Amino acid sequence: FNDPALAGAILTIDLDAVRENYRRLKTRLGSAQCAAVVKANGYGLGAVEIAKALRGEGCQDFFVAHVGEGLSLRSALGSGPAIYVLNGLPPGSEDEAANASLVPVLNSLEQLAAWRATAHRLSRKLPAALQVDSGMSRLGMAPSEVDQLAGDANAFHGLDIVLVMSHLACADEPEHSANELQRQSFEALRSKLPAARASFANSSGIFLGKPFHFDLARPGVALYGANPTPGKENPMLPVVRLEAKVIQTREIGDGVGIGYGHAARARLDMRLATVSLGYADGWHRNAAGAAWFKGVRLPFAGRVSMDSIILDISALGQGVLKAGDLVEFIGPDQDVDDVAGFAGTIAYEILTGLGDRFERKYL
Ligand code: PLP
Repeated sequence: FNDPALAGAILTIDLDAVRENYRRLKTRLGSAQCAAVVKANGYGLGAVEIAKALRGEGCQDFFVAHVGEGLSLRSALGSGPAIYVLNGLPPGSEDEAANASLVPVLNSLEQLAAWRATAHRLSRKLPAALQVDSGMSRLGMAPSEVDQLAGDANAFHGLDIVLVMSHLACADEPEHSANELQRQSFEALRSKLPAARASFANSSGIFLGKPFHFDLARPGVALYGANPTPGKENPMLPVVRLEAKVIQTREIGDGVGIGYGHAARARLDMRLATVSLGYADGWHRNAAGAAWFKGVRLPFAGRVSMDSIILDISALGQGVLKAGDLVEFIGPDQDVDDVAGFAGTIAYEILTGLGDRFERKYL
């Protein structure tokens, strides 16, 4: 799909904007360091391209979810930066992870024991991050397990504990009481563990203020231009532009059914354009959205199909929009948070769901 002549849609990723977003977050962090979360192929935008761009900004720490993501990032980036694997290591992947100098995030005592055994078997000191559950109840060691570790002189034998981390459940709701409770819990848990650095804040967490920053923040979505401060003006630059090509235009008579289930009916003198984008490209079937052409809003007419969307182009003059023209789905007129709103979801799901049937352009 990277041949522009063949692609039905174009996804443009502005790496300059990603770099600028990283700089903005760093400014907000002050003395704390800033990692980049590039799991799920950099939230769908290209982990390698994003990570290389941020290396140029001095980013030294990258987080992925799966060991496979870590291995491919390591071969792209070479030996310099730290690569942390958030979901830990599935049994059997330890040697490969050790050879690629990946840092597993150890979420349980079993994972810790397995990694210690790997260090012993390879006769090598291995780096590790520990995740503690400060109140999200998703991943990480429980406070009782942390106490157990704190009392065990051999718990970390053969390991270099480079990081202790935890994740906020409600950071995008600044007034939520869980934020401060989690912060206090994390503060107490990290003081019992011998890690070199502590990491707590995701994108929204950075905006909760200095007490939430600790040593290393882990933003993802804000780097990619989504708003980490819902309800307030977006402090980040937009990164993504998605445009799809018009395949066909038509005029239809009053009352004629449109698309699957005839979920919409034509009005008098209605004109339609069918564009090359659909739910297989991550566009939710029931999202009542719109596209844009030269600043004019073109509402969806009827249901989203797998590979196409029918737009009501009656607001444009006759012949203004032609087959082959590009209409904007994400861009200056509607951002990724607007699109998430149409679908009743969050920007994360829109970005990671975009699929790969696009010509991708990196600016
Ligand atoms: N840290 C962990 C453990 C995560 O799971 C995520 C993403 O979900 C992040 C950091 C980055 O979060 P955000 O994209 O909200 O900045």
